[in-house]
Amino acid sequence: MSAASTPAVPSSFAELGLPPTLVAVLAAVGYEAPSPIQAATIPPLMEGRDVLGMAQTGTGKTAAFALPVLARVNLGLAAPQALVLTPTRELAIQVAEAFQRYAATLPGFRVLPIYGGQHYQPQLSGLRRGVHVVVGTPGRVRDHLTRGTLKLDQITTVVLDEADEMLKMGFADEVDFILQQAPKTRQVALFSATMPTAVRRIAQTHLRDPAEITIASKTRTAADVKQRYWLVSGAHKMEAVTRILEAEPFDAMIVFSRTKAMTTELAEKLQARGFSAAALNGDMPQNERERTVARLKDGSLDIIVATDVAARGLDVERISHVLNYDIPTDSESYIHRIGRTGRAGRSGEAIVFVAPRERGLLRVIERATRQPITEMRLPTLQDVYARREARFRDQVLEAVADDGHGNDPRPLLESIAADNNLSILDVAAALARLVRGPAASAEVDRAQASVTQASARGPAARERPRRERPDGESAGAAPVTAAAPRPDRAGKGTSPVPPGMVRYRVEVGYEHQLRPGQLVGAIANEADLDSQYIGRIDIFDDYTHIDLPEGMPPATSRILAKAWVCGRQLRLRPADAPAPAAPSPRPPRPPRAPGGSKPKSAGPRKS
Ligand code: AMP
Repeated sequence: MSAASTPAVPSSFAELGLPPTLVAVLAAVGYEAPSPIQAATIPPLMEGRDVLGMAQTGTGKTAAFALPVLARVNLGLAAPQALVLTPTRELAIQVAEAFQRYAATLPGFRVLPIYGGQHYQPQLSGLRRGVHVVVGTPGRVRDHLTRGTLKLDQITTVVLDEADEMLKMGFADEVDFILQQAPKTRQVALFSATMPTAVRRIAQTHLRDPAEITIASKTRTAADVKQRYWLVSGAHKMEAVTRILEAEPFDAMIVFSRTKAMTTELAEKLQARGFSAAALNGDMPQNERERTVARLKDGSLDIIVATDVAARGLDVERISHVLNYDIPTDSESYIHRIGRTGRAGRSGEAIVFVAPRERGLLRVIERATRQPITEMRLPTLQDVYARREARFRDQVLEAVADDGHGNDPRPLLESIAADNNLSILDVAAALARLVRGPAASAEVDRAQASVTQASARGPAARERPRRERPDGESAGAAPVTAAAPRPDRAGKGTSPVPPGMVRYRVEVGYEHQLRPGQLVGAIANEADLDSQYIGRIDIFDDYTHIDLPEGMPPATSRILAKAWVCGRQLRLRPADAPAPAAPSPRPPRPPRAPGGSKPKSAGPRKS
């Protein structure tokens, strides 16, 4: 293998040798500059070289391999020219969607995801119609090759995405088999978050003189910046921001998002929720950007939502908080971002939102900054209310201190009170309600529910296809509904296991603050099981019984055994199986509830 290359500062997409049509799409998508993995990987892939890339999810690796494939695809040839192997069907779908998005200017381009668990028919008709790129899980791709329904003779590029995960899931034989079927002339790009021996073996067997890419980050300390992360993804991020803005005492905040379009969208949403926010991005004319920064400096604006490029060099002492709405694609960007706070010897706070799949990237950043990034304590409703009250007190006292410039409303208030037989306190209370707006508790309650649920979703949450439910809710996006107690989950005491179900035990319970929705979310994601198939849940003090369909594949039960919910490993096992040998933080206790033996059932517990 050739020497490891460390990319220089990311250049523009045009400099990477991509055709102008693709560069135009990226501008439209809102990417400002290539991420480091893209800057390092695209040129060798464009030259036709093999690539061995160490890259976590979240670094932009999908575009790193998809763009060179799209740059060279022959749209006149209706045969698969690139094959991407992914460990899971969710990732297959997500990668296929990314190809489609980047191919917006390639008329007639077709990509097909093929994965286990879906009927063969739609995949067969897709393949027959002719596709340019196939993205699939190794098992199903091998099946199609054996049946002769997928041909690799026109393949020029094979991508192994998340190779370590693929091998962990036991797909080594499939990967070998598939690579042997591909033409000898093919280019191979292998991406993996880690490089265990099994991945090295695949690379040594199937890659030829690959450009080996590792993004070496300079380690740097950011001693004055306290760093926290919040496990939250997708639609719930907006609720999470709202909660942070409500509960965190901050002076000024800079919120980072990955795309220019998102800066505007987010700033507008924050304004609509009553926050003093504005976007800062490269599409804005220079004088408008300067005005925005000046407003932040003089305190007439508290929040700016910016992209990395727009915020470069920003030096505003007031910035007490940096919020990474999207985790940056690399640790260098992270260090630049958090450097916007903690200026002039002040201390600063950095918060990063991390989707479950991006946890690997978080660890990389943690290593690079040599600082722990601790999990954020969810601001409670009490925190939110207490902050609101404190703000209100300040506002009232400010108004009291202000003499009103000759405008004295006291006679009017006295006459309102006298005419209506009210006390001055009654009138003041009514005015307070008017000033503070409608009681926000319902809104905050909703935010609390969705944010808490989101943080408990399993690693596949981000990629999960949104399945429409009959009630119009989408299962992927609305864990609260997915988790809502249903009559069949309700129940008291020990009930018979319904036919076709198996009762399992997991080592997390009421005293770990488990709510049924969290378990449903985690299991639905980790086991890739639609939440409607999850049966009754009985939460006991320190463990829970959950009914799941019979015939769970051993690989799935292994995944579920290792999954974490509420900071506890589930260690899932059949409820009647003996306790595993692994040390348990606490020996299982029989259910305890008022009356002695009744578990706390999911039914009546509201999430
Ligand atoms: P991936 O690591 O491929 O899963 O990408 C993670 C996220 O980064 C996706 O949401 C992409 O849309 C986004 N992304 C990829 N490349 C860039 C880029 N150059 N600039 C901004 N966002 C990007």
